[in-house]
Amino acid sequence: MKILLTNDDGIYAPGIAALAKALRKVADVTVIAPDMERSAVSHAITLAHPIWVKKVNRDKKFFGYAISGTPADCVKFGLNVILKKKPDLIVSGINLGDNDGCSIFYSGTVAGAREGALLGIPSIAISLATFENPDFSYAAKLGAVLAKRIYKEKLPPATFLNVNVPNLPQKRIKGILATRQGMIPIHGEFHKRMDPNFREYYWMSGKIPQHNKDLTIDTSALQQGYVTLTPVNCNLTDETTLQHIKNWRLTP
Ligand code: MN
Repeated sequence: MKILLTNDDGIYAPGIAALAKALRKVADVTVIAPDMERSAVSHAITLAHPIWVKKVNRDKKFFGYAISGTPADCVKFGLNVILKKKPDLIVSGINLGDNDGCSIFYSGTVAGAREGALLGIPSIAISLATFENPDFSYAAKLGAVLAKRIYKEKLPPATFLNVNVPNLPQKRIKGILATRQGMIPIHGEFHKRMDPNFREYYWMSGKIPQHNKDLTIDTSALQQGYVTLTPVNCNLTDETTLQHIKNWRLTP
C-alpha cells in the first residue's frame, strides 16, 4: 500500500510525525507537506507564486518533502512531480485541533483529503480535538487501522472520510461512531486591540459551538468522547433545490 501523507500544520508538526511513524509500519509512506503552518487555508491553491520543494530530515533521517504551498498544492504537486505512481491512499493529519461540523469548510487538513477525493484517490483527514497537551498516540494507531480498511474496501468516488479523535487516553475513549457533519456555524469573535502607534486592529478567534447530545452528529459525539467518522461527498449540489429551480420561469 502506497500512501501520500500531508497536513496543514506543516512538515515539522508533531501530529504528522506521529502519523507517519504509525503508517510506516503498514505502508510505503511519502510525506509531502507545507513548509510552514497553513491552518485554515481551506482548499486554496498557489497560482500567483512559484512553488519550492525541499527535502526535510527529522531525527537525522529523511522524513519527506516540504512544499512552499497549501495542503491542496501538496497533493497536486506530489502526484504530478514527486510520486511516479498514483498512491493507493491520501492521508491528511493528524491536525492539532478538531475539524468537525462547519470547520470542514475552513480546514486545510480536510482540504488535503478532499483534493485526493476529487482526483479519484481514497482519502482520509484525521484531527485531534485539542489545542493543548496533545496525545497523538491513539489517533495515529487508528489512522493505520483505517488506512488498511479503506485500502481493502475503497470509498465511493468523490467521497472521503473525515475523522475526529478526542484527546483522551485510549481507555477513556467511549467508542467509534459513524456520524453526520454538524451544521452549527462557528461564530468569529473580533477582539479589539491597539498597535504601538495607537491604531486599532482586530484579532479573530472562533468559538466551538456547543451541541446537544445527538450522537449522530460529529461535533456532539466528539464532545462526548467518541471518535467520529464522517463520510463527506465533494459534490455540494442540493438535489431538492435543483428539482425546484428547474421550474423557475425566469424572463429577464
Ligand atoms: Mn491545522
